Order: sequence, then C-alpha cells, then structure tokens
Amino acid sequence: MSSLLPWHPRRFNDEILSSWILRIAAGNNVSVRSLCAWLGNDQPVAALDRMVYTSPFIDSIAEAIGAEKEQVIECLPSSLHGLSRTPVYRIRGGTAPMQWHLWQDGSYGAMSNQYCPACLEEKGHHQLPWSISIYTCCLKHSCFLRESCPHCGKSFRSASRFLNWSLGNPGKDLQRCAYCNRSVANCAPSEQADKKTLRMCHVLGSLVRKSSCESFFEVLARLLYVMCRPSTLAENLRSQMLPGSHQITSRHSSGAPMNFEYLDVKSRAYMLQAVVSLFADWPNYLIETLRSTNQLHYHLHLFKDLPSWYERAERVAMIPCSKPNPSERDKLLHVATRQGWITAVQFAEENP
Ligand SMILES: [Zn+2]
Ligand SMILES: [Zn+2]
Repeated sequence: MSSLLPWHPRRFNDEILSSWILRIAAGNNVSVRSLCAWLGNDQPVAALDRMVYTSPFIDSIAEAIGAEKEQVIECLPSSLHGLSRTPVYRIRGGTAPMQWHLWQDGSYGAMSNQYCPACLEEKGHHQLPWSISIYTCCLKHSCFLRESCPHCGKSFRSASRFLNWSLGNPGKDLQRCAYCNRSVANCAPSEQADKKTLRMCHVLGSLVRKSSCESFFEVLARLLYVMCRPSTLAENLRSQMLPGSHQITSRHSSGAPMNFEYLDVKSRAYMLQAVVSLFADWPNYLIETLRSTNQLHYHLHLFKDLPSWYERAERVAMIPCSKPNPSERDKLLHVATRQGWITAVQFAEENP
C-alpha cells in the first residue's frame, strides 16, 4: 500500500519542517499529531523540528509527501540550515541542546522564534532561518527580524505550537500571536537594519550553507560562548568590543547574559559583528583583545580540538609580550580561501 498522501503541497523556499507539515496535515484534514501517528512515529510531535538529519522518520515523511529525503533534511534546524548536512559545531561539554538554535526565556532548551512581518504577511509560512541565532535580519526587506507580538509584547512562537490541531487556514493561523490571537504580520513594518548588519547577515548566511566552513563556525561559537557568559571576563570583553549604545539584552529569565542563543535580535547582530571583527588584522587584534583581560587561561582551555590556526593565536595571547609570527596571517588567509570563508575575513577588514 502506498502511503502517499492525497494532498501534498510543495515546500516553500526556506520553510521550516513544522510549517510545511502543518500545511500538509491541514490539507488532509488531520492534525500533525495524527499524521505522525499514522506514519508510525513514536517521538513527541513537538520535537519534529528537533529531529536529527539521520532519523529514520525522515524517510516515512518523504514517502508520504512524495518528496526526496534531502528535501525534508533541508527543512531541519538541527543540521544548521540543513544544507551543510553536518551539524555545524558540536559543542564539547554538552551544555547546549541545540547549538545555534534560539532559546526562549528561562525554560532550558525551549526553542524560540523570530519573524519578518512583511514575509509572514506575503507568504504565510514560517522560515527556517527564523529559528537560527545567526540570522538577525530579513535580507529581502532589509529589516531586523522581530521576536515579539507588536500588540501584546509576548514572544512570537514557532509553528510547533499547532502540531496537535487540525487547522482550517494554516496561512492565517501561522500569522497569529499565541497569546492575544491578533495578527503579528498585519502591523507597522519592522525596523530597518543598518548596512553593516545586512552585509554580515548575508556573509554568514552564505557561509553556513557550506560544510567546508565548519571550522570557521566552531571558532565563532567558541568566541561567542566566552563573550556571552555572565562572567567578569565576558563583561570586560563586551565593554571593550561593543560601543556604549550596543549593550546587550538577554532574554533569559534571570536577565543575565547566559549564552548567545538567549540574546535579543539586535544584541546578537552587534555581538556577531564584534566577534567577526576579531579576524581583522589577524592575529593581532584577537591577541590584543584576549590579552586585555585576566582569567584567560581557564576560559580558553575549556574546549579542545579547535583548528590549529586559531589555537596558535590563543597560545601567543597567553604569553605576555610574545609576538605572533608574521606568517600566521598568510596561513589564516590560505585556510580561509581553501575552506571558503575568506568573505568573513574580508568583512572584518572592511569594518575595523
Ligand atoms: Zn522579509
Ligand atoms: Zn499578542
């Protein structure tokens, strides 16, 4: 017996799995929960977007909706935009349930979401990049993404909140606030993003799709982890690297910065710019910044196995008055060109 569903609309560009499945289930007059049960899934349905790209359930979904398995994988946040096929940066030490995924309030590991009001009104589906922390603006509408309802101010929630229901009009329902039920799309446009933020979003968005850039993102994650903690070291680094008007806001219930994934949208944009700027004048600016604080040894050695071009710079930073070898810069540029993230270095150089 074929398990192909009678109604199986195609995925919209950049759509996240929960949003796509919701539209498919609605077209077949069932809830996503019933649909998944029929396909033999015994995982909690709310965890659909957290599925790893190796899950056998992906095959069942692909067969039911008449799509290739790769198309389903491409909708999953767990493989960071799905396109690289490998989870970019596997955190060592196990502190993060899903690195790079936005986290919500105080509930540890709960996923958060953001949106572009103009895209949501035009298309009516939820985009995969909205759930990922490195995305801070919409390149199509040149605006910052929004994280809360413009009417009641509560968090914008992901499509997975609807997975138990059979929706009559998913395009409209996906635009509604989970708390006040008003449309979050039908309102004033979101704030325009500055050119530097847009360019950075474009650069990182294109790099994250290449698996060859994995080591660049590992280093980025490492630096973000150190800079976004509630520690004195992190505070010193932030006050040194972020201009006064760009102090960070954490959405963690304690109000304290905890991890990059808890920061609000603008804080993430400015933090990413600060961290990417460490690549300018490599490795001198990084070394100067790291040396400007104490407690460095402890923080830098929490994780091992970072790329050698980065570890060499760290080692120099730990020895006072030691100077980096001039060839370090050539080595970095060589690696960055070979692995395809030279644009990130160029961005750092343009924006000292
Ligand atoms: Zn947009
Ligand atoms: Zn609301």
